[in-house]
Amino acid sequence: MMLDLFGVGLGPFNLSLAALADSVSGLSCSFAERRPRFAWHPGMMIPGTTMQTSFLKDLVTPVQPTSRWSFLNYLVTHGRFHDFMAARLDCASRVEFADYMGWVAHCLEATAFGEEIETIDHDGTAFIITSASGRHWRSRALSLGVGHAPRIPEFVCPDSNCLHAAHWLDRAPPVAGRRIVVIGGGQSGAEIVLDLLARRTPPAEIVWISRRSGFWTLQDGAFIDQFFTPDYISAWRRQPDSERKLVLEEQKYTSDGITAATADAIYRALYERRRSGRHDVVLRPGRDVRAIRKGPAGQVIDARVAGGGTEQCTADLVVLATGYRPAIPDCLRKLAGRTRYQPDGSLALEESFRVIWDGPHETPFYAMNHGRHSHGIADAQISLAAWRSAVILNDLTGRRVFDTGEGAAEPPLVDWPGRDGANSTNATTAVQRRRIVNTAISD
Ligand SMILES: Cc1cc2nc3c(=O)[nH]c(=O)nc-3n(C[C@H](O)[C@H](O)[C@H](O)COP(=O)(O)OP(=O)(O)OC[C@H]3O[C@@H](n4cnc5c(N)ncnc54)[C@H](O)[C@@H]3O)c2cc1C
Repeated sequence: MMLDLFGVGLGPFNLSLAALADSVSGLSCSFAERRPRFAWHPGMMIPGTTMQTSFLKDLVTPVQPTSRWSFLNYLVTHGRFHDFMAARLDCASRVEFADYMGWVAHCLEATAFGEEIETIDHDGTAFIITSASGRHWRSRALSLGVGHAPRIPEFVCPDSNCLHAAHWLDRAPPVAGRRIVVIGGGQSGAEIVLDLLARRTPPAEIVWISRRSGFWTLQDGAFIDQFFTPDYISAWRRQPDSERKLVLEEQKYTSDGITAATADAIYRALYERRRSGRHDVVLRPGRDVRAIRKGPAGQVIDARVAGGGTEQCTADLVVLATGYRPAIPDCLRKLAGRTRYQPDGSLALEESFRVIWDGPHETPFYAMNHGRHSHGIADAQISLAAWRSAVILNDLTGRRVFDTGEGAAEPPLVDWPGRDGANSTNATTAVQRRRIVNTAISD
């Protein structure tokens, strides 16, 4: 049977696509996940951690609030709506949000678990997909949603005493009485430090190293949220490469800082420790780790210190909270020479999230989480996942199945540089441009 759409991987991004596709009648889809059951970053599911995004920005609500696959319907179905609302949470816990996504993933008929996709090929008219279990699928369109790979510095050889944050809970390394170095000043590093501070049998020492000049908190607020809107993405698309690079750097802490709640919790734990005379935690910002090697007394970490000089410390356990990078999965090797790439190794995308490649236009190939450069800082976040799924489904069906905002009655709040005609001497105002779009749609 020929499918309309096949999704590889079932993280939040392809899951959002599957949940919205479920309401498009006549569309035949299948989504395969290698894990036996849905799981969302299980190695970092530290108790007490919360979402960085509102529960209303779930898999479907921003484009289809009436969908049965919304977080609110999950609460109602599980009899927790009133209890959840009474908790007055801005954001759900990560455990609960993962449970919501798991509920959607296992209720949808189009999902298959325990299917690791091994090869993807194209025979000129369709994608041919094969899993490790020997199953085959044939599909007109493909959506790659396999997530990012842990970023491990090239000088590191991971082992049981040097692991990436992605494996923090599933490897569960012993910490009691050990010297632990956590490298990375972002949210994952912070969550691991907080987890260590809460242990009943504590480590002998915790050293928290960051290349950043300080332990920066996440930038948040109404105007920061404007970067996570479809309007901003459409303006972003019209910005030249040079401008995008500068702006991405400036926006770093809108998604890559430590949440204020986590930073405050760490600070309070440290304050209490110091007040009671314990000085077993060392915070070292401004250190760029250049080497990690095994020495007679443990792992030796060499760092360059901002402003000059080098520094060394020794640990029993090193945790690399060094982030994630876009990766091309092995299953794509047959098509890898036919696709275009960004300088960071991610797939180059068109506005509709189609990968730029030499295959036929009638068989689109979409990629999730490859658009940091082409679509902006929001691409790696859940905030716009539902909107992106809607854009993809409109493109796939050739119809405006979902309202993705082009025809909104209200002009955008911010007249971003790069919006059609902005910055030119005879630029139309945002209000005028909205009127033009609306007239075109009603025509
Ligand atoms: C700890 C953590 C917390 C985060 N919290 C937030 C947050 O609160 N808000 C927010 O907006 N963003 C958050 N993010 C960022 C982002 O939302 C997540 O990284 C998100 O999981 C990305 O979704 P994804 O679908 O691209 O990839 P993933 O979640 O990584 O899912 C990819 C899936 O593909 C599967 N897969 C891979 N290869 C194959 C194959 N060959 N065959 C079959 N299946 C395969 C994997 O098993 C996996 O299940 C967080 C990131 C991390 C690391």
